[in-house]
Amino acid sequence: MSTSKQDKNTTLMEQKHHDCIIDNTRIFFVWDFDHTVVNCNSDEYVPAKILGVKETTQLFLEYWAQHTNNWHKCVELVMEKAMQKARDQNQDEEKEIQKIAATMPYLMEVKNALEDIYKCQHQSHPDSERLKKEKEQCISNENQYEKDFQTNDIHQMILSDGNTYFIQSFLNGTEFYRYFNQGIITNIGTMESNESNTMKNFLVTPYAQNKPNGCPLPPKSQCPDNLCKTEALFRILKNSSHFYKSRSVNNTVITSRPKIVYVGDGGNDACPALHVLTSPKDVILARSGYKPIYVDLVKKPLDSGALTDEEAFSSLPPMNDSNSGGYGILPKFDSLKKKFDETPKCQIKVWKTGTELCSHINECLTSSFMSKNEEKDKFKISIEFE
Ligand SMILES: [Zn+2]
Repeated sequence: MSTSKQDKNTTLMEQKHHDCIIDNTRIFFVWDFDHTVVNCNSDEYVPAKILGVKETTQLFLEYWAQHTNNWHKCVELVMEKAMQKARDQNQDEEKEIQKIAATMPYLMEVKNALEDIYKCQHQSHPDSERLKKEKEQCISNENQYEKDFQTNDIHQMILSDGNTYFIQSFLNGTEFYRYFNQGIITNIGTMESNESNTMKNFLVTPYAQNKPNGCPLPPKSQCPDNLCKTEALFRILKNSSHFYKSRSVNNTVITSRPKIVYVGDGGNDACPALHVLTSPKDVILARSGYKPIYVDLVKKPLDSGALTDEEAFSSLPPMNDSNSGGYGILPKFDSLKKKFDETPKCQIKVWKTGTELCSHINECLTSSFMSKNEEKDKFKISIEFE
């Protein structure tokens, strides 16, 4: 039939554009890793612990000039030097790398925020018992659709342009692993032995294997080829039964998804904030402030382990116009607004310290626990699944 193609297209359009309800009682926390979960860049921190900050910085500059726009190739080459030095010092290079990655610095208040979310998942939030009772009453009165919602429907994952090797070594070496029940999306980092098993190489396989990588931003502003966090996040939402829940009511497909709370600092976190966090209920927790640079890092031994805000920030100059090289996410929003008039539809909350982040996270948790059925936000979004 000549209409079959048209029917198919119509169905696809309907699937792409239908009402989506944000269920404010469900939350999906998405965490960037570098300068967010940890208070450093793992790709630089790990080799710098062996080679020193000065040599690591020089090597990255040198390799970046040779392999422009291929950051992870530069990481492989810098790691080759670091692992050679570890072998020269009669260390087991693989164990040494794991040990260093496990001691990356993090803000204690960031850990507290993760812990608060974890407690909420497990129903020990101060408000949870009262709200659980309210919810049970609500379920007995409301329609079937309500039964899909539970007050502890809270999930967390890491979405990072780092690599699995450094991130997993950190999570395994600390108590952080249990927080991320939805796992890690990032590039694959592996240690591979040579044929005679006398030395190991560190390799990074990009998350995205195909070009284009699906980034919705206009050319020249797009995410790097190896990872567009918009594409990756849509893939996660689509492939897990935890997130989009669809049901047909009077021949209309109604889909719900959780509120997304996204924590990040980088320019590549702006893309999903614009294209996935399309509800005013969603929240981007954007890091701002002074980002340590080379001159700050060579002054003293690299930090490791848990840091109070005071320990992390007291040695850094305040952010001002003369040192405006801060975190990338807010400048990326500004540039996308100027160039393409794209502005986030979600709420933007800015954090500089771990204490500020922890306070924002608790606001998000409390507002979700307190939300009532009538507060649900119904709006049209474009779900572009391939
Ligand atoms: Zn993108």
